[in-house]
Amino acid sequence: MPLLENRTVLVMGVVNRWSLAHAIAAALAREGARLHLTYQGERQRETVEQVAAAFPQARTWPCDVASDEQVQALFARLASEGVELDGLVHSIAFAQREDLDRAFELTSREGFRVALDVSAYSFIAVAHAAAGLMPRGGSLLTLTYLGSERVVRNYNVMGVAKAALEASVRYLAADLGPRGIRVNAISAGPVKTASARGIRDFTSILDQVAQRAPLRRITDPAEVGDAAAFLASDLSRGITGEVLYVDNGYHILGV
Ligand code: NAP
Repeated sequence: MPLLENRTVLVMGVVNRWSLAHAIAAALAREGARLHLTYQGERQRETVEQVAAAFPQARTWPCDVASDEQVQALFARLASEGVELDGLVHSIAFAQREDLDRAFELTSREGFRVALDVSAYSFIAVAHAAAGLMPRGGSLLTLTYLGSERVVRNYNVMGVAKAALEASVRYLAADLGPRGIRVNAISAGPVKTASARGIRDFTSILDQVAQRAPLRRITDPAEVGDAAAFLASDLSRGITGEVLYVDNGYHILGV
């Protein structure tokens, strides 16, 4: 039997077929999940609708997570249509270009606010709202990166945002556990996506991982998708508050 038969999962953060959220949606759909996908705004609607057409019964909804009104409107619309969720995937991050292009010490107050708001706070907001649509309990998942705990060249304020995101995973897991809701993160190895292109010298990071990771390869998005399907399923029912590395072992390396 497919792992996620009769499960409904909201996936936030597909912008194109290279998005990690796309690989995750594909794995969830393969395992039988019904999907709801969100897109940030009108500019992304058509592409995300095309992506969604490949998944049986998938529906799409707008939601800019920087707006409390849009987050509330999304979950109110889902509730009004009688949607109950078993899972949520938050695969969203943003930092201003200049804060990834210059020294970390030059991070502006506004750059810090935007990165932390969109990349970390938004998970708390959508987790709270999604929990209200999970009467049977469920699984919440977000995406993080090793730059939260090590200094990764040019990752800068995004590393600080990911540290806040990982701490939020633990606090949310403690709050929501009594309701049968698990909260976890996948720390993915570097993958060439639209967001990753914003990080200067990203190709050199990929080269280093390919040469040094214990499994001697870069992360295949499908590996992230399969781990997400596991975390969304009952196979992971005893796991919450965890950061699971899907990076071909790169995080264990010292100098
Ligand atoms: P991606 O395809 O560019 O996905 C990032 C998503 O965030 C896009 O769908 C983007 O939408 C969305 N987003 C940004 N601001 C938003 C807002 N205000 N409201 C709603 N959506 C918003 O890149 P990705 O690499 O797959 O990133 C997905 C997640 O994986 C991120 O959390 C990222 O940090 C994490 N991650 C990536 C890597 C990697 O190497 N690629 C490694 C580890 C972790 P728009 O494009 O429409 O703005």
